[in-house]
Amino acid sequence: MNILLLGIQGSGKGTQAKRIAAEYDSPHVATGEILRKAIEEGTPLGKQVVDILARGELVPDATMIELIRERLTDSDGFVLDGFPRTMGQAEALDDMLAEITRPLDVVFVLQVPDDVARERLAKRGLEEGRADDTPTAIDTRIATYHRETEPIVEHYRARGSLVPIPGTGTVEEVFRQVQDALEQVASRPARTGA
Ligand code: AMP
Repeated sequence: MNILLLGIQGSGKGTQAKRIAAEYDSPHVATGEILRKAIEEGTPLGKQVVDILARGELVPDATMIELIRERLTDSDGFVLDGFPRTMGQAEALDDMLAEITRPLDVVFVLQVPDDVARERLAKRGLEEGRADDTPTAIDTRIATYHRETEPIVEHYRARGSLVPIPGTGTVEEVFRQVQDALEQVASRPARTGA
C-alpha cells in the first residue's frame, strides 16, 4: 500500500509511521531521518542542510523532491512520513506518482493541538537533545507547519483520500484507529489514477 502521513511535528507521525511500516511490511520513508543521517555522516547533503534543520526551517523544495524521487521509484509500496511539506512538494509528488502509476491509497492526518505538540517536542528535546527541539526552533516549526503544510491537508481532503485521526490518545489507541482505516481501504475496490 502507498500511505502518506501528515501532521504537525510532535503529532506522533513518526511513531505511527514506524508501526505501520512494520505491520504492513512496507518501507518507511522519513525525510527528517534521511536528512539527520546525512548530517551525522557529513555528506554534501548533510552540510547543505545542517543549519536549516537547527533553525527549524524547511529545506528547499528542489532538494527534497530529488531525494524523494530516488526512493519512491525504487520501492514497491511505502509509508511516507515528512514529505510533502509544501504545496510545491505535494504537486511534485502527485506528478511522480502519476508517472509511475502508483496512486496514494490513503493520506492520514494526525491531529493534535499546538500546545500538545509544543509540549511533546520540548520533552523530546530534554530527553534526546535534538538540535531542532529548542524553544525557538519549535516555534518556527509550528508556524511553518500552519503556513506551508496545512494547505496540503486541504488538497488531499478535496481529493477524498484524507483520513483525519485524533493524535492525542496513547500510541496504541491511535494505531488502532489507523489499522481500522487501513482495513477499510484494503477491502474497497482498487482505485485508478492518482
Ligand atoms: P522531521 O523529522 O520530519 O520532524 O524533520 C526534521 C527537519 O527536517 C524539518 O524541521 C526540516 O528542517 C527538515 N525536513 C524534513 N522533511 C522535509 C521536507 N519534506 N521539506 C523540507 N524540509 C524537510
